Amino acid sequence: MYWEKEIETMDRSKLEAAQLIALQDTLIKVGKSYYYGKTFQEKGIGVSSVKSLSDITKFPFTTKDDLREHWPYGFTAVPKDELVRMHSSSGTTGRATVVFHTAKDIAVWTNLLARCLYMAGMRKGDVFQNMMTYGLFTGGLGFHYGAEKIGALVIPAGAGNSKRQIQLMRDFATTAVHVIPSYALHLSTVFDELNLDPRKDTSVKIAFLGAEPHTEKMRKKIEEIYGYKAFNSYGLSEMNGPGVAFECPYQDGMHIWEDSFLVEIINSKTLQPVPDGEEGELVMTSLQKEGMPLIRYRTKDLTRIIPEPCACGRTHRRIERIKGRSDDMLILKGVNIFPMQIEKKLMDIPGVGTNFLIILTREGYNDDMTVKVEVGKQYFSGDLKQLEKLKKKIIEELKGEILITPKVDLVEPDSIPKGEGKAVRVVDNRKE
Ligand code: AMP
Ligand code: ZN
Repeated sequence: MYWEKEIETMDRSKLEAAQLIALQDTLIKVGKSYYYGKTFQEKGIGVSSVKSLSDITKFPFTTKDDLREHWPYGFTAVPKDELVRMHSSSGTTGRATVVFHTAKDIAVWTNLLARCLYMAGMRKGDVFQNMMTYGLFTGGLGFHYGAEKIGALVIPAGAGNSKRQIQLMRDFATTAVHVIPSYALHLSTVFDELNLDPRKDTSVKIAFLGAEPHTEKMRKKIEEIYGYKAFNSYGLSEMNGPGVAFECPYQDGMHIWEDSFLVEIINSKTLQPVPDGEEGELVMTSLQKEGMPLIRYRTKDLTRIIPEPCACGRTHRRIERIKGRSDDMLILKGVNIFPMQIEKKLMDIPGVGTNFLIILTREGYNDDMTVKVEVGKQYFSGDLKQLEKLKKKIIEELKGEILITPKVDLVEPDSIPKGEGKAVRVVDNRKE
């Protein structure tokens, strides 16, 4: 039932004592990075400021902007030759935030994933099909090594190519899959097209759903279509990637591995910690990392701690399914997109006006993005060839930036309503 019983069920007081030691150790390590070395010195803080876990609040938060501003190596805490792997957040082809791992970091991360997968019921003998993008993003290699560590047979299928996914699943009797929830729904339409019933025509018993927010209703729908149990998997590249928090067989919130992460929930306006049970923004400090540990990293993900103990016996607290974001990042087909990326691209294209609107839709099981863009009046008179040409260019430029091909709708100046105050850039019409 447990991958590491002693750690997973550790007495809270023992766990917290171990956290304090790991925190102090981490503070010494991060002090060697350019960014924290400078910050700690300026603020006169360091390892000696920490006598108890609550002293973490003496330290400033770290944000994605800090990572971007000190790209690429400003946060690494070991000499470069000790780094063995780089990953990045999913989303942009430009300067995505990057994270670095030492060999030990990879081993610790792999073990966390093994712990998660074992907890959900995966075992040696399972055939695991990893339908996530391999490469820079973390969902591919992260899960891959965790599953191998358990001893499962791993099929590194990667993302997309639905017919091949289904064929692999059937040919090799896949028993466990890792999939983005919106893709799981899309894939079910391909089963329909092929006149196959995923419940009868495959052997999948377990699915891991991650990389994007999804509701309990959506999980239930996926479980119903496929007849498997679907477990919520949460993580972010800045904290390794997947393997941060994961559902146990009770499927009521995700255990967040507190031997590896110090967890805070803050009010995103006052930035003050809130008590357990109250909703806020998840903030995390790495406790085991060497290559690039982060202190009080603002995930911008909204959730709450579930204060009650879990019936499974694990003592690591649970967080509730992610409710949303405290910033304007949106996730489409598992890819993180900031409206600012789209704005920047658009503003560089001659002929494009100042107003645009991103509309997200769900048709059947297909999620899409339409970008409505105001362009110069001249494009609408006479020959519309120039308009078509501009549209093509915009699609290409945006695809290059966000990795997804959006639909583009070009409209006349002043036709997108301007609200009062801050411009509304995103309308999310994705419904259940
Ligand atoms: P990345 O840095 O590319 O790994 O993306 C991490 C972000 O993906 C997180 O901060 C969340 O916003 C989102 N995410 C990952 N897993 C989940 C999940 N299970 N539920 C909701 N959001 C998720
Ligand atoms: Zn549990």
